[in-house]
Amino acid sequence: MKALYEYEAKKLLRKYGIPTTREFLARTKDDAKRHAKKIGYPIVLKIQSPDILHKTDAGGVVVGIGDEKELEKAFDKIMENAKNYEPNARIEGILVQEMVSDDGIRECIIGSKKDPQFGPVIMFGLGGIFVEVFKDVSFRIIPIERKDAKEMISEIKSYKILKGVRGQKSVDFKSLESSLLNVSKMVWENQGIEELDINPLFVSPKGVKAVDARIIMK
Ligand code: ADP
Ligand code: MG
Repeated sequence: MKALYEYEAKKLLRKYGIPTTREFLARTKDDAKRHAKKIGYPIVLKIQSPDILHKTDAGGVVVGIGDEKELEKAFDKIMENAKNYEPNARIEGILVQEMVSDDGIRECIIGSKKDPQFGPVIMFGLGGIFVEVFKDVSFRIIPIERKDAKEMISEIKSYKILKGVRGQKSVDFKSLESSLLNVSKMVWENQGIEELDINPLFVSPKGVKAVDARIIMK
């Protein structure tokens, strides 16, 4: 079993037509500054280590970095946090990523795992408490068709949040359906994928964007 880095997992997502954040891997602080300039501030920095799966728990994510000075501070802090969290952690680098802050973002999750009985399955839900507390998710056996993707989205209880409450605009359902279809295709064509998590997938009236992704390969 081998976990892909976030930036590797997202390369595979892009290959299957799933939009992701714009990002570059930095090995040094100077690298990071150069990449940040290309992307444009504000940016996000994230630790990339095979020994740190949940980056936030390790103090390995800093969002909303507004300029070069803040980047320098955040870079050092992330390195320090990673060493405190896991002294022997191998560090591949720090990911420099565009900060996404569209209006009307709803944080969703798309997951996949291998069920011992049914084989690869796909899961969809809204992020945070909706998944963790309410277990408000839908499942299908892979591969799925657009009709299945539509049903997966509309059968969760928090569907209304996607349609928009209190005057909020509806999300782009077509793009969300396509993301589910593309994940299904990706897992179907790459049987080595044991587990996949896009968490979060930002979904807004303008479209979708994978902000974090984790893939475990056999
Ligand atoms: P973790 O490994 O802890 O899951 P994430 O990459 O998911 O790390 O980042 C944690 C949270 O920070 C995300 O759930 C999201 O709310 C926020 N976040 C991460 N990256 C971005 C980004 N590029 N733009 C906006 N918010 C982000
Ligand atoms: Mg995450």
